[in-house]
Amino acid sequence: MADHGLVIDMKSMGDNNRIDVNVASMYVDVGGRVLWTDVLKRCLGYSLAPKSWTDYLDLTVGGTLSNAGISGQAFRFRPQMSTVMELEVGTGNGVKTVCSNSQNSDLFFSVLGGFGQFGIITRARIMLQHAADMVRWIRVVYSEFNEFTRDAELQIMSEESFNYVEGFVIVNSDDPVTGWPSVPLASNQYLTRPIYPKN
Ligand SMILES: Cc1cc2nc3c(=O)[nH]c(=O)nc-3n(C[C@H](O)[C@H](O)[C@H](O)COP(=O)(O)OP(=O)(O)OC[C@H]3O[C@@H](n4cnc5c(N)ncnc54)[C@H](O)[C@@H]3O)c2cc1C
Repeated sequence: MADHGLVIDMKSMGDNNRIDVNVASMYVDVGGRVLWTDVLKRCLGYSLAPKSWTDYLDLTVGGTLSNAGISGQAFRFRPQMSTVMELEVGTGNGVKTVCSNSQNSDLFFSVLGGFGQFGIITRARIMLQHAADMVRWIRVVYSEFNEFTRDAELQIMSEESFNYVEGFVIVNSDDPVTGWPSVPLASNQYLTRPIYPKN
C-alpha cells in the first residue's frame, strides 16, 4: 500500500457490475470491477470470447488493464489492453470521461497500463472473437533449456502455429512445490521420467 495512498471500494460505484455483450458488433461492455472469469462465462453464452487473457481469471478488468494483461496468447493477440475499444474513466476532477483511440486519446493511452495513476476505469469495451468449440493442448517436456527456448521462439514466429504458447521451469526433484509433482495433470496422466515414475 502506498503511504497516504487512497483505496477505492469499486463495489460502491453504481453500474460497475455490468457485462453487456453486443453480438452484432462483437464487443462486450464491462464494469471496471468485474472479474474476467465472469466476462468469459457471459460471452461463452453467445459462443464468443475476448481475444487476450491473463493466466489467472479472478482478477478485475480495471486492474489488469491498468497493468497490461499478459498470458500465453499475447504474442498473437497482444496484451489485454490492446483489445480495448473504448474506456469510461473517472478522473480526478470528478468527471466520467469516455475515451478511445480517436476520442480523448491522451487519457485513453495514459489509463491503459497507467497503474491507476490517471483515473479509475469504470467501464471498458473489449473486442470479442468467436470462441473455439474445441482446442488441442500439447505439453512437451524438455531437459535442455536451450532446446526449450529454441522451440518456443519457433512457435511464436510461425504464422501457422498455436494460438497460445507458454513455458514453465520446474526443478528436477520430487519437491511438491517446485519439482515434478507440481506439474498439474489429470489423474490418468503422468509425465514419463526415469527418476519419477508414476508406479
Ligand atoms: C494470482 C494472480 C495471478 C496473476 N496472473 C497474471 C497474469 O497471468 N497476467 C498478468 O498480466 N497479470 C497477472 N497478475 C497481475 C494482475 O494483472 C495485477 O495484479 C492486476 O492489478 C490485478 O487486478 P486486481 O483486480 O487484483 O487489482 P487490484 O489489486 O485491486 O489493483 C491493483 C492496482 O491496479 C489499479 N487498478 C485496479 N482497478 C483499477 C481500475 N478500475 N481503474 C484504474 N486502476 C485500477 C490500481 O492502481 C490498483 O492499485 C496476477 C495477479 C495475481 C494476484
